[in-house]
Amino acid sequence: MNVTRATFDDVMVPNYNPAGMVPVRGEGSRVWDQDGAEYIDFAGGIAVNVLGHCHPELVGALTEQGNKLWHLSNVFTNEPALRLAAKLTDATFAEKAYFANSGAEANEAALKLARRWALDKFGEDKNQIIAFNKGFHGRTFFTVTVGGQAAYSDGFGPKPGAIDHCDYNDLAAFEAMISDNTCAVMMEPLQGEGGIILPEASFVKGVRELCDKHNALLIFDEVQSGVGRTGDLYAYMGLGVTPDILTTAKSLGGGIPIGAMLTTTAIGAHLKAGTHGSTYGGNPLACAVAEKALDIVNQPEVLEGVLKKEALFREILSAINEKYNVFEEVRGKGMLLGCALNEKYQGRARDFMVAATNENLMCLVAGANVVRFAPSLIIPDEDIKEGLARFERAVAAVVNAE
Ligand SMILES: *Cc1c(COP(=O)(O)O)cnc(C)c1O
Repeated sequence: MNVTRATFDDVMVPNYNPAGMVPVRGEGSRVWDQDGAEYIDFAGGIAVNVLGHCHPELVGALTEQGNKLWHLSNVFTNEPALRLAAKLTDATFAEKAYFANSGAEANEAALKLARRWALDKFGEDKNQIIAFNKGFHGRTFFTVTVGGQAAYSDGFGPKPGAIDHCDYNDLAAFEAMISDNTCAVMMEPLQGEGGIILPEASFVKGVRELCDKHNALLIFDEVQSGVGRTGDLYAYMGLGVTPDILTTAKSLGGGIPIGAMLTTTAIGAHLKAGTHGSTYGGNPLACAVAEKALDIVNQPEVLEGVLKKEALFREILSAINEKYNVFEEVRGKGMLLGCALNEKYQGRARDFMVAATNENLMCLVAGANVVRFAPSLIIPDEDIKEGLARFERAVAAVVNAE
């Protein structure tokens, strides 16, 4: 059966608008399309393919587990899930794990846990959830309502209630909003979809202190920032502020769908038997791959390599910008970088992304004004240089089309 990009319009719901080419194969940070054209991948499946495509050790873990046991449901536990939970709790503040299949599901679990914790301990008035404008937490109705872009949650009928938003990095506004009725605060310790926005250290510390003062749980959504992306295993480690609940997905599976919610024993105890669950969450196949991905990422050489690769990106990007003057700044951390467009190019991030695809480079946007790169953490330096040479041609194409 012959399928092409045109087939998409025939058979798929139109909620996505994918690129014109259809990738068929990947290896490391290179991808090939149906016509055999080769691309360099700075998109990483939206910060997912943390070790590139078809990393031999991940393929090994996948095929080994694939020949053993795929799925059980949570009526039974399994060895890969137990080992992954042990490794995640060893490597972080957390003592307990819950597995899901995606970032949104991990966040859904975190929010439900926070509400249940507050109900059990303080009664039903303590139900407010505070989150931040431009934040992104997934597309289930609860998580999209907690996310800070009303455009994504409007138009689906009545929303889950008691959810308020304030500006990121505005501690005074946050202090004015939080109270003893706040049960949880959900934040990304580096806003991804919202435009690659780093928090100020004093803001994160202040949020933590105010959560403590009002007995509110601090939930860090590290779905995008986690698993080595920032050069720390989790971004909270670099900020020196520990959350009560952390969610992780995207890079966790290295390309296989998995999410996890991590927390302490005392808080986790409120998700008693029967309160929450998932058919596929924590299945042996996904956990075996995630375990291998975590083993590889959580090595000093790999994490230090992320910062070296960031430096290379920044050096070449600033040379491109000196020549073409298109960015106001390059921001973000590690292998999660955003080129924020200057006044002249406001609203045109997508044009740069399309021009990049035309030059055989895959990249992303983060909102209308930021071109985003989220490549493999082990992308070879040659691929960074070649990819940015292509990006320079894409920038030239946009600038010269003026
Ligand atoms: C991508 C993302 C999510 C949603 O993850 P899905 O796997 O798409 O459900 C949640 N939070 C953050 C910060 C994300 O970047």
